[in-house]
Amino acid sequence: MVVVGAGMAGVQTAAALREQGFDGTVTLIGAEPHQPYDRPPLSKAILLGTAEHSAFDIDFEALGIDLRLGCEALGLRAEAHVLDTSAGPVPYDVLVLATGAEPVRLPGAEGVPGVHLLRTLDDAERLRPVLARQHDVVVVGAGWIGAEFATAAREAGCAVTVVEAADRPLAGALPAEVAAPMAAWYADAGADLRTRARVERVEPGAVVLDDGTRLPAGAVVVGIGARPATAWLAGSGVELGAHGEVVADDRLRTGVPDVYAVGDCASFPSARYGARLMVHHWDNALQGPRTVAADIVTGAAAAYDPVPYFWSEQFGRFVQYAGHHPAADTTLWRGDPSGPAWTVCWLRGNRLAGLLAVGRPRDLAQGRRLIEAGTPMDPELLADPARPLKSA
Ligand code: FAD
Repeated sequence: MVVVGAGMAGVQTAAALREQGFDGTVTLIGAEPHQPYDRPPLSKAILLGTAEHSAFDIDFEALGIDLRLGCEALGLRAEAHVLDTSAGPVPYDVLVLATGAEPVRLPGAEGVPGVHLLRTLDDAERLRPVLARQHDVVVVGAGWIGAEFATAAREAGCAVTVVEAADRPLAGALPAEVAAPMAAWYADAGADLRTRARVERVEPGAVVLDDGTRLPAGAVVVGIGARPATAWLAGSGVELGAHGEVVADDRLRTGVPDVYAVGDCASFPSARYGARLMVHHWDNALQGPRTVAADIVTGAAAAYDPVPYFWSEQFGRFVQYAGHHPAADTTLWRGDPSGPAWTVCWLRGNRLAGLLAVGRPRDLAQGRRLIEAGTPMDPELLADPARPLKSA
């Protein structure tokens, strides 16, 4: 059994194989040199220096997992069942692709001193001194990573400007009416959010916008999205989708025999939402591996059809999301979006399709179960924030 990619999804797959009783050889191959680690703390505690590391608490040796770090997969010869790596060919019976995603780079900014990404432990370690020295920081992109980095940088006392091409934060992730109230969070935290602003070029020490504005920048952090890390699979016969993601089925099998794909690098069909989902969040990298391991061990896993879940910690708020709102036809608010705690619910017919909760973890927990169960809801009761969601 060979798992390629030693992030959350790869590590969980290797561990789940053992949990589910697989006793053959398990090899886990990862390009990074570090002991496998968790990414969410990188934009939070690690950045602020309140945690030193986020290595997974897993004893690979005790589990009999052959961990090969600093080893990059370069190609796949599927017919021969061989993975080509920087350390030579690795034969497999079953291969699990878990190479995750890599950040989109800002054209023209590569190689300019002081320009950073935030995906890896090395990235976070390079950014720590930026915060400690309280540089003027320009963040490009007001997505999840941009918001979390801006939060940490403000907390560390940096002057922060966030440049966003769309007219609001999180434009790619949330409908306009839901993302709009979040713009005020930047100002409240003392960050200068510039929407409808485009970077024309990045120079050492400055970001120049297309309207000629010159923003001083001791450091620039680019957070404009991530794409599946699958370029190395070109020509292998593994089908890649429009975003470069590995196209998997509802057991997370690819179209190539004995090859699975899980986590940020893959998409899968959701019967629940009638759509193919590519989920770039932690919970998917936790849940998907259980299906992969079950399918490998038993040959008959149940279909993988989760209610997607994620959280973000930004500007002193705990933001949680469950479900898949594009499947919905009605939007309902619980509470005032200009206040500290509110929830937005998306309904398809009279059933909850998704919800986003700000500072209302109980709504999230109950909503997630209601989505899973497909419980019919009363929209009028649902809109009352004083009433528990589960009784609506
Ligand atoms: P990855 O974590 O990307 O791991 C893939 C691994 O494969 C990497 O180590 C990579 O080096 C390796 N690899 C890639 N190519 C090769 C190759 N060719 N050969 C060998 N190895 C290779 N999600 C949330 O829900 N909430 C959060 O608050 C949150 N915060 C985040 C903060 C940051 C800074 C980041 C970057 C992500 C955050 N996420 C969060 C998303 C979450 O961390 C990811 O969804 C999760 O890490 C995906 O796991 P993965 O194993 O699929 O991919």
